[in-house]
Amino acid sequence: MSPEEIKSESNTPKDFIREIVVEDLKSGKNGTRVHTRFPPEPNGYLHIGHAKSISLNFGIANEFSGKCNLRFDDTNPVKEEVEYVESIAADVKWLGFDWEDRMFYASDYFDTLYKYAEDLILKGKAYICDLNAEQTRLYRGTLTEPGKDSPFRNRSVEENLDLFRRMKAGEFEEGSKTLRAKIDMSSPNINMRDPVMYRILKTEHHRTGDVWQIYPMYDYAHCVSDAVEGITHSICTLEFEDHRPLYDWFLDEIQTQYHPQQIEFARFNLSYTVLSKRKLNELVQKKLVDSWDDPRMPTLAGFRRRGYTPASIRNMCEKVGVAKRENITDIAFLEFSIREDLNKHALRTMAVLNPLKVTITNYPDDSTEELDAVNNPEDPAAGTRKVPFSKVLYIERDDFKVDPPKGYFRLFPGNEVRLRWAYFVKCTGYNLDESTGEVSEIFCTYDPASKGGDSPDGRKVKGTIHWVSAADAIDGEVRLYDRLFSVYNPNDVEEGKSYLDYINPDSLKVLQNCKLEPSLTNAVAGINYQFERQGYFCVDSKDSKPGSLVFNRTVTLRDTWAKMENKSKTS
Ligand code: ATP
Ligand code: MG
Repeated sequence: MSPEEIKSESNTPKDFIREIVVEDLKSGKNGTRVHTRFPPEPNGYLHIGHAKSISLNFGIANEFSGKCNLRFDDTNPVKEEVEYVESIAADVKWLGFDWEDRMFYASDYFDTLYKYAEDLILKGKAYICDLNAEQTRLYRGTLTEPGKDSPFRNRSVEENLDLFRRMKAGEFEEGSKTLRAKIDMSSPNINMRDPVMYRILKTEHHRTGDVWQIYPMYDYAHCVSDAVEGITHSICTLEFEDHRPLYDWFLDEIQTQYHPQQIEFARFNLSYTVLSKRKLNELVQKKLVDSWDDPRMPTLAGFRRRGYTPASIRNMCEKVGVAKRENITDIAFLEFSIREDLNKHALRTMAVLNPLKVTITNYPDDSTEELDAVNNPEDPAAGTRKVPFSKVLYIERDDFKVDPPKGYFRLFPGNEVRLRWAYFVKCTGYNLDESTGEVSEIFCTYDPASKGGDSPDGRKVKGTIHWVSAADAIDGEVRLYDRLFSVYNPNDVEEGKSYLDYINPDSLKVLQNCKLEPSLTNAVAGINYQFERQGYFCVDSKDSKPGSLVFNRTVTLRDTWAKMENKSKTS
């Protein structure tokens, strides 16, 4: 990046992290380098909070002609799986970011980490401790009380080195020994009270197999991995603020070539859901949702299956900005971003979710005609398509009322409406199902002079409704989703209750035998449709098959939720 570019950037840094980056470029702290990383632990699927971190790290690299690595922080073989590695890589790609040839693993550095650990032992800065987990905790002290030195703290360098090598060779039981940094048991910062660097774990690692019997702890592995990769700005969330002195201590003691700067920002939270892999995993394990990619899950895999677009997620992350204090983003804001994007790109179609049969009594019996329908009024390039029209149609059950309430402009006996892209039709009668008392079918006449839905003589109709031709319609299943939780912040609920007590029982509604316009026969996952007047939909990537289509509703057309809430507030 040239000095002029840096200058012009410096006029508009969007947030405090970019401000730091700009300052560092100006002062030449890292030369002209900007190098970030996204460091997921492969112990679950990525969620929308991770998208925030991905957008930030890759975004900064892109803006400042830098680089961003994808690095798996795979230091805990007990919880990590290849399935997660694969899903994480796929999700980052899907979001639209590219790590090029820089996909790394902390496990790539196990040898380096081990060597640096020996160096620290040789410097007298690390020791083998025989306290068990419980004792270590007791010796550590509390926020108000200093810790106590471990009785093993003053072992000789030779003994420490010998024990560490034997730990590595697998001579000792799990939990019987640890390697600890020798810092300060009375530090006001608990993270500095001789933190554990290595523990014994006799678990196979998904990449290194059974080579290692000892594994580095996160705090030790993370800073060293950053330094090895030449990261300049190590961006993480606020809970690591108190770990920063430790991050710096390790790198100062090891004297690595690079010493990245750790910068913390506030986690992204979303209303009506939880964003913690532990909780999301619990939802899956307890079968409260189908899977990690259940379209109700706030995971990127779930959002993808639901029909959310990468662009709308990126836009939202951008607009939310970077905060120093925790806050909650309203899910309505994310939905707004989805609608904004889909309105531009989604193909309009007609689908009747809750069908009611209509016979056009004055339409020729065995005739069908093809009418022109616009694919996307927002995008002329999307063109038009043909929609078949015939004597028997389906409309939405809701679009007919025997006794219309005031202000109802759709069909009722004697009323005329426009069938979208087709004709004006007037209701002339209806039949009731004798057993249920429900309307079983209705009858209309059409005005042949109103073809295309245009008024033939200037007469106006107030309602326009969608429809499909009965003979041509394809059957499909449609899944309607609502918020997974029924409270704004399921992480903060009444005492004695858990977030699991607040799952919305109506988060999924399945409609069978919906009637879809025939152009949807070849619909495939990954394409967004608008079902006119119903919302945005997409083919379900898992359950939909040719001949038995399943659609997911991505989002409604308008924010019905906000409207309902306003209503309940004012009533
Ligand atoms: P979780 O709390 O969901 O288990 P985690 O922090 O343990 O998340 P990691 O795999 O360690 O998950 O996270 C990878 C990166 O994503 C880290 O840099 C972490 O700070 C960041 N990250 C995780 N959750 C959020 C969030 N809600 N908002 C912003 N960044 C996040
Ligand atoms: Mg973590």
